[in-house]
Amino acid sequence: SRLGELFRTNSEYVPAVRLPAGTGPEVSHRVSITSDVRLDEHTHVQTLVYGEHAAMMTNQLTHLTRPGSTRRRALSWLWTNLRHPGSVVDGLRAGSRRQVMLLFMQDVSTSLRVVWRGGRARTEQSPDEPVPAHLPVSHEVARTLADRVGGVPQGQLLDSVANLGMTAHPLGGAVIGASAADGVVDADHRVFGYDNLMICDGSVIPSNLGTNPSLTITALSELAMSKVPAASASCG
Ligand SMILES: Cc1cc2nc3c(=O)[nH]c(=O)nc-3n(C[C@H](O)[C@H](O)[C@H](O)COP(=O)(O)OP(=O)(O)OC[C@H]3O[C@@H](n4cnc5c(N)ncnc54)[C@H](O)[C@@H]3O)c2cc1C
Repeated sequence: SRLGELFRTNSEYVPAVRLPAGTGPEVSHRVSITSDVRLDEHTHVQTLVYGEHAAMMTNQLTHLTRPGSTRRRALSWLWTNLRHPGSVVDGLRAGSRRQVMLLFMQDVSTSLRVVWRGGRARTEQSPDEPVPAHLPVSHEVARTLADRVGGVPQGQLLDSVANLGMTAHPLGGAVIGASAADGVVDADHRVFGYDNLMICDGSVIPSNLGTNPSLTITALSELAMSKVPAASASCG
């Protein structure tokens, strides 16, 4: 009964800054994540790049519109693009070479629910701890950094135009719990009520880690595997 509950986004927000034309290749020729700044007890931000040939990832970056209603943001986006066609062209020209993502994560408790409706899996806000559409400090940092380097603050297309959040860190939805009343799997990742069925991926993580999750997912999966008894010789 808890399947789909506590689906989380790691409270992640990813605006970006497009650096000015003439920026050298050293920007994208580096380790992806090189710095991490803690802004408060629950919030930190990393700068990251995708490398030189990742335009598929950065083509969805666009003018960062200010928070507001969907209609207001969509109109503001359209108006800014009409006023600054050169910036639109420069964005396409920049590809991923001049885009620096600002990856904000928080370990606060926000969540969505995944529900099956109309033949599709959909997300809806959890009534108790909804995921805010915006993190004001993320806009502030993107604009400040863009000012400092003479760049352009960028937002994800779906966020800037349609007021929709996104995450590259989906967590939860089949979380570890003490019983079937509060989780889908037990501490050894065994699905409550089923024999020999385990879940070993990000869906079992019960909280927003507030940090890049893949090593935690791997460590928990390794721990779960260590609890699986070795096959006996008679099993063939
Ligand atoms: C652009 C990007 C950058 C990231 N960078 C980092 C980083 O630097 N550090 C970090 O820690 N994390 C990073 N992450 C997050 C990290 O990649 C994920 O948290 C992690 O991979 C999730 O692992 P998972 O096993 O839960 O799911 P996944 O790795 O998504 O694995 C799910 C698998 O299930 C398969 N699948 C889906 N549906 C079906 C189906 N119906 N039948 C069969 N197979 C199916 C998929 O093909 C996939 O192989 C990044 C994510 C993105 C998108």
